[in-house]
Amino acid sequence: SSDRKYRGRFAPSPTGPLHFGSLVTALASYLEARAHGGNWLVRIEDLDPLRESPEATEQILASLTAHGLESDEPVRFQSHCHDRYQHIVDHFIKQGFAYRCICSRKELQANRGRHPHKCRDTAIDVGDQPFAVRFALEDEHSVWQDQLLGPQHQQVCAEVDDPVIRRKEGFYAYQLAVVADDIDQQITHVVRGSDLLDMTAQQCQIYRALGGTIPAWLHIPVILNDQGQKLSKQNLAPALDDTLAADNLLEALAALAQDLSGLSARDSVANILQTAADRWKPARIHLTSR
Ligand code: GLU
Repeated sequence: SSDRKYRGRFAPSPTGPLHFGSLVTALASYLEARAHGGNWLVRIEDLDPLRESPEATEQILASLTAHGLESDEPVRFQSHCHDRYQHIVDHFIKQGFAYRCICSRKELQANRGRHPHKCRDTAIDVGDQPFAVRFALEDEHSVWQDQLLGPQHQQVCAEVDDPVIRRKEGFYAYQLAVVADDIDQQITHVVRGSDLLDMTAQQCQIYRALGGTIPAWLHIPVILNDQGQKLSKQNLAPALDDTLAADNLLEALAALAQDLSGLSARDSVANILQTAADRWKPARIHLTSR
């Protein structure tokens, strides 16, 4: 991937407004892209209308703009890409990379992840039962390099770990869409929260099945609240105050252990971002105490 022009992205799921933790992730991916003279894209991962809202999408995009974080290309919406995902699902089933699964969560749990209906081995006739589609992982001891965390070792367990790529309700799943879009958008570098670290080896297998070039990975520590929980929409992290964009950016830079000398909240957002990009040192993220 080193001879391709740098293309990074920030890919929020619109389950709520932008909060401090997602600002830190957005900023890190933005600064990495700028420091490499690359492009930075925003992609809205709106796959689940039951958990997400158009309102949250609007809030996230407005918040990013207020913080000077604007996509270099039109924002991509996963909700507009269903045909592409379905095409891949069909192709995967035909090629044996994926299979239909009628097992309930309960049945799988009772069987320690092994499918009582033998979904993987037999082309079961699902009839009119609702089915999920799962990607058929290969058993693998995966070793890959994280640009911040160093060598990563992950055990991938076929059948037990097989991720759903289309849910019974008909929604396409994150594991499929994220890889499909990163390939389609020619993303060369992924910067994201380390809560997604465990997904990476599985995603590499999906890249290979699609014949895509695996990007470079850089996982940043997740920001914790005072109770030691991940800042997230689920535990109601407060929305950012967009009128305090300069303060928020400085705080996010501090969370990334970057050099703030000479910068103040009286500086413009553009100036803070430019200075931060010039000084950007991802290795310093290790120094953070959070
Ligand atoms: N949409 C995912 C999230 O909000 C991030 C996807 C990724 O960066 O790989 O957690």
